[in-house]
Amino acid sequence: MTDTHCHLDFMQPQETAQALREAHNFRAILTIGTNPLRNHNSLKLAQENPQVWAAVGLHPTEVGILSPEVEADLEDLAKHPKVRAIGETGLDFYWHPQTKAAQYKALEFQHGLARKLNLPLIFHVRSAKDDHRAELEVAAWLRINRPPKTVLHAFSGHPRLVEMGLELGAYFSFAGSLTYKRNEALREAAKSLPLEKIIVETDAPFLPPEPYRGKPNHPALSRFTLAKLAEVRGMTAEELETVTDANAERCFSFFGLRL
Ligand SMILES: [Zn+2]
Repeated sequence: MTDTHCHLDFMQPQETAQALREAHNFRAILTIGTNPLRNHNSLKLAQENPQVWAAVGLHPTEVGILSPEVEADLEDLAKHPKVRAIGETGLDFYWHPQTKAAQYKALEFQHGLARKLNLPLIFHVRSAKDDHRAELEVAAWLRINRPPKTVLHAFSGHPRLVEMGLELGAYFSFAGSLTYKRNEALREAAKSLPLEKIIVETDAPFLPPEPYRGKPNHPALSRFTLAKLAEVRGMTAEELETVTDANAERCFSFFGLRL
């Protein structure tokens, strides 16, 4: 099993230790940095735990601090062999619609870094309301900029992102939201995506899957999302686990050499 997106450093140290014990049989866990301090903490966790790798980046809600120093620090960390992705980046109009220009600037910097280091770029996409502005703008940005390795994290199923993701060969990453009752449209989208482009994540400690809603999430709970995805795809969880593990490895190259 692989958890391709979590935030281990958002938990208390003893909770992180417990979460890693519960996921001891996982093949790989990718913990995602969201700001300079968290990037350092995420990389530290990756260095201390053989099954953990890190992504480093600047979350769209943290872009106010972007500066030449922050950029240099990010680039420096991104060269570490245990770093296997850049992000999460993207657009968030839910929490910070007023920082849109800075969000684009941070996205562009992280895209350049991902290209330079040949790493996947992880996208967070969240709109303020049902206007789906963030989904539409990210799709438009992808059409122009075409990052070579794209991950759509906590994929929402928006048709324009499906279309652009397919065109770019992006990976569609499913979180606990796939298990929520109201998300029938998302399960419908999950049915028809290419099997070799689907990966599974928790976004822990956020987005716990059913039946753990309201409780803190942790990597081991990604099995509930996997089970739902398997049901949607008409496969057994074991079959799908083999496929999604292989997809995650192709995307992030945890056990391969970094080029
Ligand atoms: Zn995240």
